[in-house]
Amino acid sequence: MMRMSCLITVINRRIMKLLVALGLIAYIASVWGTYTNMRMIQEHNELKIEQRIDEAVAPLREKIQDLELSLTQKYPPVKFLSEKDRKRILITGGAGFVGSHLTDKLMMDGHEVTVVDNFFTGRKRNVEHWIGHENFELINHDVVEPLYIEVDQIYHLASPASPPNYMYNPIKTLKTNTIGTLNMLGLAKRVGARLLLASTSEVYGDPEVHPQNEDYWGHVNPIGPRACYDEGKRVAETMCYAYMKQEGVEVRVARIFNTFGPRMHMNDGRVVSNFILQALQGEPLTVYGSGSQTRAFQYVSDLVNGLVSLMNSNISSPVNLGNPEEHTILEFAQMIKSLVVSRSHIQFLPEAQDDPQRRRPDIRKAKMLLGWEPVVSITSHYTAKKKNPMPDVNVDSDLKVVW
Ligand code: NAD
Ligand code: UDP
Ligand code: UDP
Repeated sequence: MMRMSCLITVINRRIMKLLVALGLIAYIASVWGTYTNMRMIQEHNELKIEQRIDEAVAPLREKIQDLELSLTQKYPPVKFLSEKDRKRILITGGAGFVGSHLTDKLMMDGHEVTVVDNFFTGRKRNVEHWIGHENFELINHDVVEPLYIEVDQIYHLASPASPPNYMYNPIKTLKTNTIGTLNMLGLAKRVGARLLLASTSEVYGDPEVHPQNEDYWGHVNPIGPRACYDEGKRVAETMCYAYMKQEGVEVRVARIFNTFGPRMHMNDGRVVSNFILQALQGEPLTVYGSGSQTRAFQYVSDLVNGLVSLMNSNISSPVNLGNPEEHTILEFAQMIKSLVVSRSHIQFLPEAQDDPQRRRPDIRKAKMLLGWEPVVSITSHYTAKKKNPMPDVNVDSDLKVVW
């Protein structure tokens, strides 16, 4: 009996031990399960946090890469100018056709250039090769609003220049040329800067004097479709001389004649870009009127050299800048047709109202006082091409002419 009860006690103890062991295993298993669950949740959360950090850091990483790129980016070569010779130059309208070439020249000459443009007809890409350069700044600003910066020279080019562009919003064209010019003269007065106004042969209107010299007062219809531009530029000139006489501001006035070259906007409606685009697309070349009206075209590099030379001269009275090589519009149409080797025909459309009939600059003043004259001749280019009629004119994806 005793033996029997001892055996049962031993068995019970073993069962108890077994149960305790099983309980312990179950407990450890549950603790382990909870632990691994928690670990999974923790890892999941950590992953989420890492993802969030990655998302937040990605734009910063891109910015750093951009910065590194801009530090190593190749800019066109820039001369070194000593502090004494280096000027702070403002170019209004500097993202446009002429302004962007002027920017290139002044940057390459080693100056500090600030371009102010509202991008009405200009494009950022015209000056994008300078963005990030330590001597360059681009400001999106409308000159109709006041501008407070510190500069030594102002090239005031801001204004639409092609007839369809300046006629698109005549009131804005007037504001730009009047209020905009007033603001730039106010700025020039405050900081003691010299201002060069990009005026135009349009101040001569439909001229009764040929070729046009600077003493001619012009023949402008003050209420016609071109008046917003012509009269706007005439008032701008008047303002320059009022600020010169009354406030002692140093002014230079360039009367610019028709200009062409790369970065002219293909759709701005001027005759050179219209004809090239039409010829390339095999569409009719649209001649307004009989085509007997004349123009004389200068290449943009000649103009830019003339502008810089005038700015740095002591000539405060107006100076014509243009190429005196005069042709009828019909001749231009035929030249472009032949250069592009195009089968387009010529289509005569109604004459534009108040279209100047004859235009050719008298450039004796610029020759004598600035020693400047154009060096790029359209005719020689054309004659050379006639001998070898393969065009080196092509159009990039944004329909800009590339010579
Ligand atoms: P464009 O239209 O290519 O350039 C004019 C620039 O001025 C553009 O970048 C435009 O966005 C900017 N602009 C216009 N209104 C502005 C405003 N309110 N504030 C700031 N920026 C403004 O023309 P372009 O052919 O380069 O002409 C430049 C200058 O030269 C103009 O003043 C024009 O009157 C004068 N001009 C040009 C020619 C020519 O044949 N290209 C002939 C005579 C005069
Ligand atoms: N102006 C400007 N920047 C300057 C100084 C003046 O844009 O650094 C503007 C100013 O807002 C004014 C215009 O230029 O509308 C003419 O200035 P001015 O000092 O000749 O005239 P005032 O301010 O006395 O009317
Ligand atoms: N013109 C033309 N066809 C065109 C665009 C212009 O015959 O598609 C004529 C226009 O009537 C003017 C000349 O070409 O007689 C120059 O025009 P543009 O607009 O280039 O400059 P403008 O000298 O008139 O300011």
